[in-house]
Amino acid sequence: MEKLAIDGGTPVRKEKIFYGRQWVDAKDVEAVSKVLTGDYLTCGPTVTALEQKICEVTDAKYAVSVCNGTAALHCACIAAGLGKGDEVITTPITFAASANCAVYVGATPVFADINPETYNIDPDSIEAHITDKTKAIVAVDFTGQAVEHKRIREICDKHGLIFIEDAAHAIGTKYDGKPVGSLADMTCFSFHPVKTVTAGEGGAITTNDPELYRKLHLASQHGIVRNPAEMVEKPEGPWVYEMQELGFNYRMTDFQAALLISQLNKLDKFSARRREIVNKYNEAFKDIPELFIQKEIPESDTTRHLYIIQLKLDKLTCTRRQFFDALAAENVQPQVHYIPVYYFPFYEKRGYKKGLCPVAEEMYKGIMSIPLYPMMTDEDVTDVIAAVKKVVNAYKK
Ligand SMILES: *Cc1c(COP(=O)(O)O)cnc(C)c1O
Repeated sequence: MEKLAIDGGTPVRKEKIFYGRQWVDAKDVEAVSKVLTGDYLTCGPTVTALEQKICEVTDAKYAVSVCNGTAALHCACIAAGLGKGDEVITTPITFAASANCAVYVGATPVFADINPETYNIDPDSIEAHITDKTKAIVAVDFTGQAVEHKRIREICDKHGLIFIEDAAHAIGTKYDGKPVGSLADMTCFSFHPVKTVTAGEGGAITTNDPELYRKLHLASQHGIVRNPAEMVEKPEGPWVYEMQELGFNYRMTDFQAALLISQLNKLDKFSARRREIVNKYNEAFKDIPELFIQKEIPESDTTRHLYIIQLKLDKLTCTRRQFFDALAAENVQPQVHYIPVYYFPFYEKRGYKKGLCPVAEEMYKGIMSIPLYPMMTDEDVTDVIAAVKKVVNAYKK
């Protein structure tokens, strides 16, 4: 057996590889430079062009660009009219922002459990958590796989709930042939550098509902209206604008929009390469009894953001921590997505207790994400597979 790097052996590769990274090329740089030396750094035509581009990519009627994915979720909760006393059902296996957005508007996040095979929110558990205070669902397309839209839509229709999709991982994914972004009442995207396409920092919300679009726009731009036709009072002159609601300044700049348009032009290429790598990993790991690999529902045509391996700890002599450190020592740096949101002190202090979502907690114990991004070479992919196999072999029972 090969000696692990953590025990003094030779690492599988020389340079460390991380779980995700952006791919910015000369075309992206050129697009940004052009806007930087132009007339508008913000509130200009590139932002409008980006919103049109997002509509094209997602098949949504309307898109509002914002400064990050968290702002997108906050705006969606405002547009949904959520507030004190309202409950919002979400998953614990997500970035904290998916639940925090409810807290921002005074509502209460309620955590439903996940499906142990797909890792996405379990519609049965959603139903089990519905009360007469439930107003919305924030469903997360975890790792990029689409949530169970058909079931979630039925639940929302039956109980009169608003369906907010946190698609921070899922730009480029389709459900039943329809792009994510055209399906839920509102879909939120993030364009952070680890996500599939980036604006440096950026986000967007898509919707097909003109009234939600109007509210999203107000929430992200100080609640200000500039079109005289939408004003409460007839304007005295052309300088008049009206602040109708309490909103925020969540705008994206025009140079970020330029970067994102250029990135979206490469989305198909990025998606194809991600898919290729996922297929290689799936093939390499399918016969390793010590690992469980996430399953996909047939409806989801997925652009994957994360690739997760789940250790079957009863078949290994190591802990998750030991496996994690051993893989890192081979210069394949894993990460864990995610710590169940209600484990954090902020939520614990508010009365959320361990044990709320047993399936999610069990899954969390064994998971780690391995590198997945389109700029990985075939050699990188081979190294990652070799490192995972090396560590499994060293620790298998
Ligand atoms: C990244 C992410 C967000 C937040 O996006 P930011 O752009 O970083 O604010 C929200 N939800 C999920 C699931 C994410 O992965």
